[in-house]
Amino acid sequence: MGHAITGAGELHVEQQSSENEVNPAGREVISPRAVHTNRRLVIVSNRVAVDSGKHDSGGLAVAIRAALEKSGGIWFGWSGKVEDSPGNEPELIAAGPLTYATLDLSQRDFDEYYLGFANRVLWPLFHFRAGLVDYSRKDFSGYLRVNRWFAQSLAPLLLPHDLVWVHDYHLIPLGRELRCLDQAQVLGFFLHTPFPPAEMLRILPNHRELVEGLCAYDLVGFQTKSDAQGFCDYLIHWAGAEDLGNGALRAFGRIVRTQVFPIGIDTEAVSGHAAAAETSRHMQRLRRSLGNRTLMIGVDRLDYSKGLPARFSAFGKLLEAYPETRNRIIFMQIAPPSRSEVPEYKEIRRTLAAAAGNINGRYSEFDWTPLRYINKSFGHQILTGFYRAARIGLVTPLRDGMNLVAKEYIASQPREDPGVLVLSCFAGAAQELSEAVLVNPFDVEGMAEAIRQGLDMPLGERQERWTAMMKTIQHNDIAHWRESFIAALQASGGPA
Ligand code: UDP
Repeated sequence: MGHAITGAGELHVEQQSSENEVNPAGREVISPRAVHTNRRLVIVSNRVAVDSGKHDSGGLAVAIRAALEKSGGIWFGWSGKVEDSPGNEPELIAAGPLTYATLDLSQRDFDEYYLGFANRVLWPLFHFRAGLVDYSRKDFSGYLRVNRWFAQSLAPLLLPHDLVWVHDYHLIPLGRELRCLDQAQVLGFFLHTPFPPAEMLRILPNHRELVEGLCAYDLVGFQTKSDAQGFCDYLIHWAGAEDLGNGALRAFGRIVRTQVFPIGIDTEAVSGHAAAAETSRHMQRLRRSLGNRTLMIGVDRLDYSKGLPARFSAFGKLLEAYPETRNRIIFMQIAPPSRSEVPEYKEIRRTLAAAAGNINGRYSEFDWTPLRYINKSFGHQILTGFYRAARIGLVTPLRDGMNLVAKEYIASQPREDPGVLVLSCFAGAAQELSEAVLVNPFDVEGMAEAIRQGLDMPLGERQERWTAMMKTIQHNDIAHWRESFIAALQASGGPA
């Protein structure tokens, strides 16, 4: 291990009351100079989820906070705010052993870095949707500019022995920018999305620069073996890298280590919430509305990678091919809108509204509506109750880094009568949840058959599949993911 992690709470915040103030949320806002000693873990992500005190945020935010609370550290990134003239210095908010450090973006940064390059180039490309890539040099230079600015704002906060863990496709060049500022800390990167095969990556005019950026990190983590393979193949075939074995490569004058860390959920907490939800008001309302019909559930951000149009078609096909399912099944698709400024997201929303209308128009009865299509988000705990009430969980992305909903669905099931997970073979989760009913999301008839299979599956088989999957996600939970990455990062030592 390169750098020792000592006891908790070693982030010492010097109280400089004359310079500090209290922000409207009642937290202390401290000046950059006030943070000065022994911070060990620095997490950088596009968005920083400052704790609202409600503890209902997604699993990743909770996991990051838990890691920082344990070892002390900083969570650095975008505040989520777009301002006319954002300041250059991060706002620092102390919350016990962890400090949130956030920057606002200008409208131009938001358009070019976030909406433009991250979400209209890297997101579609990394999800194998080359046809949706909308590249411009302006957006690429905005992406680099924001990464450089993040690095310049972060560098003064870093100490030589910090472990720096950067998250996701928005921030690939950050490590290289930190190296350009002579920062020699151990730097790790984790990619939450898939990584495309080399031939797909080469569609990006700046593919080499992007990959060289990844090589500035000491450790690069991926969700699945094939993601890691895509990166290694590119390095070997297009960057003349030397394969050093065990996932390590020498490329661009450095040694980069690659490893697979499938992200998990807080399995025990999700199980507990789901069981507790049985008696909640929401659940009573849901059960009353279902009568004795079977519930099937889908929960996805409204994103073209989630395969929702084909999923709706599969449901329509089920009702058409198996008339006995009519009036017996209700499909509830929760799909909160996301990235609504991006044209492709507006388009998918229109498409799905029309598809939902068609299915309901065609099959509804005066006392039964087959599809409940809901464009709003629900709190995590409420969702766990919905998962538990659903006999089938439908998770059919065309491509997904992991898909946490698949794991949450399994964790929420009652042991005595578990439901069936119908899962796309192109979700990262399929690598671990091989006992699900695996489907090809491009095969609409195949998905309709899989739903039918799920409806008919005997209790014994459901229990057998569920027990195996539950064991996997209990072992590979979010704490396991976090601790494995941090241990590997420490072991990856200093820069070559
Ligand atoms: N989620 C939520 N409320 C909603 C819809 C989704 O809290 O209304 C959560 C869901 O429980 C899961 C996360 O958002 O934890 C989605 O993660 P996933 O990996 O499935 O997909 P992503 O949105 O990251 O592509």
